[in-house]
Amino acid sequence: MPLPVVAIIGRPNVGKSTIVNRLAGVQEAIVFDEPGVTRDRTYKRSYWRDREFLVVDTGGLVFDDDTEFLPLIREQAMAALAEATAAIFVVDGQTGPTGGDHEIAEWLRQQPVPVLLAVNKCESVDQGVIQAVDFWELGLGEPYPVSGIHGSGTGDLLDLLVEHLPSMDQVDETEEIKVAIAGRPNVGKSSLLNAFVGENRAIVSPVSGTTRDAIDMVVERDGKTYRLIDTAGIRKKKNVEYGPEFFGINRAFKAIARADVVLLVIDAIDGVTEQDQKLAGRVADEGRACVLVINKWDAVEKDAHTIYEYERDITNRLHFVEWAQNIFISAKTGQRVEKILELVNVAAEQHRRRVTTSVINEVLEDAARWHSPPTTRGGRQGKIYYGTQVSTQPPSIALFVNDPNLFNDGYRRYIERQFRQALGFTGTPLRLFWRGKKVREAERSLNRATKV
Ligand code: GDP
Ligand code: GDP
Repeated sequence: MPLPVVAIIGRPNVGKSTIVNRLAGVQEAIVFDEPGVTRDRTYKRSYWRDREFLVVDTGGLVFDDDTEFLPLIREQAMAALAEATAAIFVVDGQTGPTGGDHEIAEWLRQQPVPVLLAVNKCESVDQGVIQAVDFWELGLGEPYPVSGIHGSGTGDLLDLLVEHLPSMDQVDETEEIKVAIAGRPNVGKSSLLNAFVGENRAIVSPVSGTTRDAIDMVVERDGKTYRLIDTAGIRKKKNVEYGPEFFGINRAFKAIARADVVLLVIDAIDGVTEQDQKLAGRVADEGRACVLVINKWDAVEKDAHTIYEYERDITNRLHFVEWAQNIFISAKTGQRVEKILELVNVAAEQHRRRVTTSVINEVLEDAARWHSPPTTRGGRQGKIYYGTQVSTQPPSIALFVNDPNLFNDGYRRYIERQFRQALGFTGTPLRLFWRGKKVREAERSLNRATKV
């Protein structure tokens, strides 16, 4: 299990960043005074007693609003909560509970994450506790008076917080990388597995996977842990029957869904087949990172052009995963088998990558400068207001625009290419969500409707 994440949630200006800095022991960080200043989600390391965790600061969470960028901040906060083990809901003890606090509280009560209610700005010795009492009405249990600025109450808050966090022996920071070896029958999957296992004497143990009789194997190498998914499925003798089941495609699909990185094994003797295309499509749909492993390279007669011909064929026929790196190997002789894990590392890292909002917007501004968004015959032009990364694995970027219909496929592909050119994202799919005003309004009213 990776380091747990604690999300700090609340309206703008209640003191969230002050509290984050207090928890992370950083005093010098900048604190903005304007309400609604958009900020990137920043992760800060923190510890208390024997527990370590990451504190993620979010922009202010605002529900009912008409301002252009507030829905964005909310989106960031929601994304942060989605990966959080616990949350601290910060409110302002000096203003008392507001309508916004009630809305956030109502939403938080529906989330499956434990929430602690921190009433900030309660440094006053005689007023503090009284200020906090008013917040019982939020229905989130006991309100704890704290002061981000003075530090009072934060120790008690941390004591309560760490009860919700896993102990350090459960936390494994070397974050294992889940790898699926996928491919049609006879491409050499089990040979590849044996090659890995053979050269990695340090196999920890077979561990059971999530599906029944799916056995995963854990391999350690250079301080990194790789979980090879459903090795039982790879080793199983193929019972040849008719229908799509005959090469265990459903089993392969399940393994792909669980993986961080898929090794899509292709037989160099046969070249890219339709079944390979099907698997590649699935990898892209599932948003998994991928390395294309062209096996049996030893059995191919080669001249100086062969590898380029293969690469061209792969790019043409496996365009769903055009972002994936290729490696030509032989499971039989062991040629370049070692190098596969280097590509896996790159792909896994890019798959988990976070890019700050400012960098994303630099790329967008540049892109629009080189090539402005299309204009309709009626003279309406697409306009990108803002972009921000809303999640990882795969990296997903929301683009807030005037009207998504104004952006045709060509322009969308152009923007994706610009992101890749500027930022790489080698080995991972990249998701772009084009969001218009209308959608956001619909989402907001839906949000209201589900609350009733
Ligand atoms: P955020 O927008 O929720 O992240 O809030 P900030 O951390 O930027 O703080 C907003 C304002 O509240 C700033 O002017 C802070 O100086 C002030 N503030 C933060 N914590 C406290 C506190 O414990 N007591 C008082 N009196 N003011 C605070
Ligand atoms: P799987 O069905 O995908 O698990 O494929 P296997 O690992 O069982 O391999 C299928 C056949 O291909 C076996 O006869 C292997 O010996 C052969 N094979 C696997 N890897 C290589 C390789 O790198 N080179 C050559 N020449 N043959 C290979």
